[in-house]
Amino acid sequence: MSAPVPPIQKILESLHSELLENRDGEVATYIPELGKADPEWFGICLVTADGQVYQVGECDQSFTIQSISKPFVYGIALEDRGKEAVLEKIWMEPSGEAFNAISLRPGTGKPENPMINAGAITATSLVNGGDTDSMIRRIVRVLGIHAGRPLSVDESVYRSESETGHRNRAIGYMLRNFEILEEDPKACLEAYFMQCSISVTCRDLGMMAATLANGGVNPCTGERAVSRDYVENILSVMGSCGMYDAAGEWVYNVGMPAKSGVSGGILAVLPGQLGIGVFSPRLDPCGNSVRGIETCREITRKFGLHIFQVP
Ligand code: GLN
Repeated sequence: MSAPVPPIQKILESLHSELLENRDGEVATYIPELGKADPEWFGICLVTADGQVYQVGECDQSFTIQSISKPFVYGIALEDRGKEAVLEKIWMEPSGEAFNAISLRPGTGKPENPMINAGAITATSLVNGGDTDSMIRRIVRVLGIHAGRPLSVDESVYRSESETGHRNRAIGYMLRNFEILEEDPKACLEAYFMQCSISVTCRDLGMMAATLANGGVNPCTGERAVSRDYVENILSVMGSCGMYDAAGEWVYNVGMPAKSGVSGGILAVLPGQLGIGVFSPRLDPCGNSVRGIETCREITRKFGLHIFQVP
């Protein structure tokens, strides 16, 4: 007789088959390499803060992490420079604008928050290293500790992103103009393009989310990826700014700190409890995975996980 299927696994499986029917949204094509994704890919991975893994669908399919790298690089900036120095450069107010908005605070040129590109590029510039190579090596290594396995950059997505990244370059030079970036933006822009092109799977996202849920220690390897104190800062900006112009709606309906990326990933964290990774490439107009949003909304509803739910 086979072992009984745990209820969490059963719920995820029925959610997965239900949401497979949803074919709304479009795969991102503004970075040509991303357009090669199969729109049908769909994986859900839930990892508890003590390392139990539940997964269904395409959880081992590689894709690039894109903007989901931002909260982790923000964590590295906090580690490398300390909170005060980081807040000198990057604020924490939701902008209500698109991810690639040239959203700088009037007068100072300080990016509104580290989840939009302006703030994320600034966070990358604060990673120890000085040159592109050392910065990206540090970023890849730390993201790998969160994931519990070594990660690497997808070179063809990186090239595609760098060749078409004119808007991000414009943001970099604006930041240089306001002296938020203190050096020529070239090195940190290339590191930013590379960090977006780090290859992950849906299972990695679940594990990275669980590492944050577990206070910065990967629950399976036991290795610390980020100081416990900074996890609170990271989850705060994810909570208020992680879903771009849909951040308010997300908190209202899903109620978990989260971050999305244009390749179709979403990573959500319930502090102390669990992490969720979802991957499906069709996006809504804000650039968030349609199935990903629906999955998180349903998981919150079915398990009663909204952080503002009064017990
Ligand atoms: N690489 C992307 C960009 O900067 C990341 C955007 C995203 O995932 N929203 O354009």
